[in-house]
Amino acid sequence: MPNQPVSGNDLARFAGQGNFMRLPSAETAEGLDVAFVGIPMDHGASWRSGTRFGPAQVRHESAMIRPYGLQTGAAPFDALQCADLGDVPINTFNLRDSIRIITEYYDELLKHDVIPMSIGGDHTITLPILRAIAKKHGPVGLVHIDAHADVNDEMFGERETHGTVFRRAYEEGLLRASDVWQIGLRGTGYTAEDFDEPREWGFNLILAQELWHKSTNAIAAQIMAKMGAGPVYITYDIDSLDPSIAPGTGTPEIGGLTTPQALELIRGLRGLPIVGADLVEVSPPYDQSGNTALTGANIFYEILSVLPGVTYR
Ligand code: MN
Ligand code: MN
Repeated sequence: MPNQPVSGNDLARFAGQGNFMRLPSAETAEGLDVAFVGIPMDHGASWRSGTRFGPAQVRHESAMIRPYGLQTGAAPFDALQCADLGDVPINTFNLRDSIRIITEYYDELLKHDVIPMSIGGDHTITLPILRAIAKKHGPVGLVHIDAHADVNDEMFGERETHGTVFRRAYEEGLLRASDVWQIGLRGTGYTAEDFDEPREWGFNLILAQELWHKSTNAIAAQIMAKMGAGPVYITYDIDSLDPSIAPGTGTPEIGGLTTPQALELIRGLRGLPIVGADLVEVSPPYDQSGNTALTGANIFYEILSVLPGVTYR
């Protein structure tokens, strides 16, 4: 049997090392199918800070998650060897240097045949991860669940921030543009045409408003039907959820997804050739109940449950 989470019946849930889902630690990705990695940084964020504390808090709240999905039958730890690699040693005084460090970390990590599951951190982390992923796998399809498209060109003259990630990724050829799905977009823009350009690139934009009061099963089915051949990356920005559900985040936007909508969407992606995923923008200082980190941890479990190779009971 591969690594198992420590059971809450063997060691109290509030005890232990604080790894994601109480999995064992590992020094390298050798022999792993899935590596959980924290990236504790917030210097790419434009409004509220605090996501530097995201990995620790998401791991903490993940202690309550049990191995089997009772609604789906998912048994991710029956088949996949999973462990927690700890945190990337970013430079907390320098965003650009941190981006370099993250790229090098993932270049090294991806020498192993492993799926990285990364916990941010602000959304900037996805750019260096995608650079490393594309070096290994080629351009990826993308399921990007977010209130924001994150396609600004510059912010204060900076070209690599949490709001510019997917423009850079597009320009650098890291994405198969027609296989990019941005879901949950809403709010106000710098211009009224903020969404026009990504549509011209071929991105598929699904506004939150199109999903209000509806199941997301249909959009998941549409993604499954239209996704082209090749690897897929999933990036989950917690601010995709309504701030009444997930207030602990840096740039909240009202009118967002519900938790069942997020679960339906993710569960509907089972069968995609996913090569990596991240959960970003959980900001514990704004998360007074811990609910945002708890929700993020459970969403990450759901993404784990649709990775290739997961068995169902
Ligand atoms: Mn984002
Ligand atoms: Mn966002």
